[in-house]
Amino acid sequence: MDRPDRPGVRLRFAPELRFFLPARTRAAEIRMDHDPTATLGHVVQSTGVPLTEVGRLLADGRCVGADHRPAPGTTADVTTITRPQRPPFSPPRFLLDVHLGALARRLRLVGVDTAYSNDLDDDTLVAMANRQHRVLLTQDRRLLHRRALAAGAFVHGQHPDDQLHDVLDRFVPPLAPWSRCSACNGPLIPAFKADVDHLLEPGTRRTYDTFSRCRDCGRVYWPGAHHTRLAAIVETARRVVAAAAEQADGPAGRVPSGWRTSET
Ligand SMILES: [Zn+2]
Repeated sequence: MDRPDRPGVRLRFAPELRFFLPARTRAAEIRMDHDPTATLGHVVQSTGVPLTEVGRLLADGRCVGADHRPAPGTTADVTTITRPQRPPFSPPRFLLDVHLGALARRLRLVGVDTAYSNDLDDDTLVAMANRQHRVLLTQDRRLLHRRALAAGAFVHGQHPDDQLHDVLDRFVPPLAPWSRCSACNGPLIPAFKADVDHLLEPGTRRTYDTFSRCRDCGRVYWPGAHHTRLAAIVETARRVVAAAAEQADGPAGRVPSGWRTSET
């Protein structure tokens, strides 16, 4: 990778991106051999950093695209995405990979359009995200390296609450809590107790009077035992989005984001 006898390409990564570099090379600067056929996007990605997480690329201080072919001796600066980030479609819609089921339920709870299934393979995930104009959310960098993927994002955090914070802070989707089925993403509509009575356990029937039902799968919802915990998630989500939206009103919110293009 490093041939000191020949001028290579020096890469300087923003601190936020060093997380993606192999542990032994998490330095401020990486030197790569020069390959005249390689684009800067390819060189960056070969270090392990997904282009979906990259904001701007600068070659010797000049802003360039991912398809730029750096000359030997070039120093390239790689910045991170600017938050909040505008997806190429509005409002933001998401497809989550198979390992993010708990995050999917949280996004649906706060009313964000979220497709998820626990049995989709990688090819299907990429094709579905593109076809349905969704941002593919994953913690699998190999998925984000797929050339065919139109819009993807790495999800930071191990706990679903942290992951939710990361996604809301990055994309600032409009929230509509309690409006989607956490099981299937379908819209919830108010239901009369008499219409769902036959679906309820006796204890639920005695205790609750307010119900909604998923238009698509028929699942019935009521503010039951978990309501306090779910309401806390909703309240936190509102605060995260309000704070991020305030940022978006500043100049940073209008900076174009680093979505991958077909040339990279
Ligand atoms: Zn449903």
